[in-house]
Amino acid sequence: MMRDTTRRYVDQVVIPFIQQDRTREWRMDPAERLAPHILEQADAAGLRTLGVPEQFGGVPLDPASLSQTLAVIATEIARGDSGLADKLVQNWKISVLISRFAPHYRQQEWFSRYMDDPQFLMAHCLTEPRGASDRWLPYNVAEVNMDTRATLDGDHWVIDGRKQFISNGYDASLYVVYANTDDSAGMQQGTSSFVVLRDTPGLEVTRCNETIGGRFMNNGEIVLEGCRVPKDHMLAHNDALGKAGIYFRPGKVLVAAKSLGIGLGAYQETVAFVHERIQGGKVLIKHQAVALRIADMATRLEAVSALLRHAALAVDELSPDADALCNMVKVFASREIVHVCQQAMELHGGYGAMLEVGIEKYMRDALINLHSDGTTDVSNFKIVKAMFPDTAGRYAGPE
Ligand SMILES: Cc1cc2nc3c(=O)[nH]c(=O)nc-3n(C[C@H](O)[C@H](O)[C@H](O)COP(=O)(O)OP(=O)(O)OC[C@H]3O[C@@H](n4cnc5c(N)ncnc54)[C@H](O)[C@@H]3O)c2cc1C
Repeated sequence: MMRDTTRRYVDQVVIPFIQQDRTREWRMDPAERLAPHILEQADAAGLRTLGVPEQFGGVPLDPASLSQTLAVIATEIARGDSGLADKLVQNWKISVLISRFAPHYRQQEWFSRYMDDPQFLMAHCLTEPRGASDRWLPYNVAEVNMDTRATLDGDHWVIDGRKQFISNGYDASLYVVYANTDDSAGMQQGTSSFVVLRDTPGLEVTRCNETIGGRFMNNGEIVLEGCRVPKDHMLAHNDALGKAGIYFRPGKVLVAAKSLGIGLGAYQETVAFVHERIQGGKVLIKHQAVALRIADMATRLEAVSALLRHAALAVDELSPDADALCNMVKVFASREIVHVCQQAMELHGGYGAMLEVGIEKYMRDALINLHSDGTTDVSNFKIVKAMFPDTAGRYAGPE
């Protein structure tokens, strides 16, 4: 049912918007890129409030099939536009964190603001200028702790630091910020997380990053200077990275789902093109070299789709191989889909490079997923660490 609802929304609302004006994603003013009706319609279809508890008006999802359901929905949305999928995925993930770790009265306050405003976005702020891979591995020693610090002052935490490369960072209304609260421990024992609302004095949005793809999601940077938040805005004390683990695994599955959606979009447009375009006296699909490429694209998509279902099921079932599988599918999907998009570009000939045709956009969007939620190499490290914890698991500092 969710797949059908999402497919209708993507076919009727998202794709016409994307195709109508290919220059929109390149507008310099990020606020002008995505028209407000896109999120309004997502809201009307119930796609924005997944992860918000039912008592606050959200769409309930069965925890036993959460990753599988979200993967289906994210695939469909990314088929229309992966930047839009990025926007919504961040909202789902942060909603889950708040619903698990914030006091009930704060949930009521934040979720009611969220429910009232379809343009309300949320962001997850981990990465800093000095790097993110150490956080993902994690390299758990004190000298690589978060540079962002939070210190207690009476009833408030005071946060100072800079977060970069943040999805929704430019236009979010609510940020979950990770900060060091115990410099004597490694980051797994000394990192806390806080909800910081955009209008909090001391929080400044300093830039919108111009990225190669996923451009309908405004990636940005924030600076916190003497930013005071009440004590009850803390979500996790000193073990924030462990607690964030509730969405780290589904997060990897969702990156793979977004890759798959991009690949499906590129494939479907390419299949249509090779059935219309004539060279050598017949439509392209009747040339065997072209047909072989289509078979290769379809096989890669099936392989990604099968591994995605398998990994999402493992995450939902808390199976022992879930850690390895969610990283495997993230890496496998991102690489395979770049390959699928390359085939799409080649089969479109010169049209593949033209902005107004849109095939090049799939390639640009696919490239982003090589880095999302950890680089390919760091994700591969996590795979071998999960499989061989006593040997490979010990390569990067104390565990
Ligand atoms: C579009 C986009 C959206 C993003 N959204 C968010 C977000 O919402 N929130 C957030 O917190 N972050 C976000 N990020 C940041 C992202 O998670 C990081 O960019 C990514 O994890 C890599 O970190 P880095 O850029 O600091 O590169 P680095 O960590 O400096 O890595 C550079 C290179 O070194 C390699 N490397 C690093 N450590 C090792 C090692 N021990 N051994 C071998 N090789 C190593 C890496 O694989 C990579 O090739 C986003 C990034 C992008 C591009």
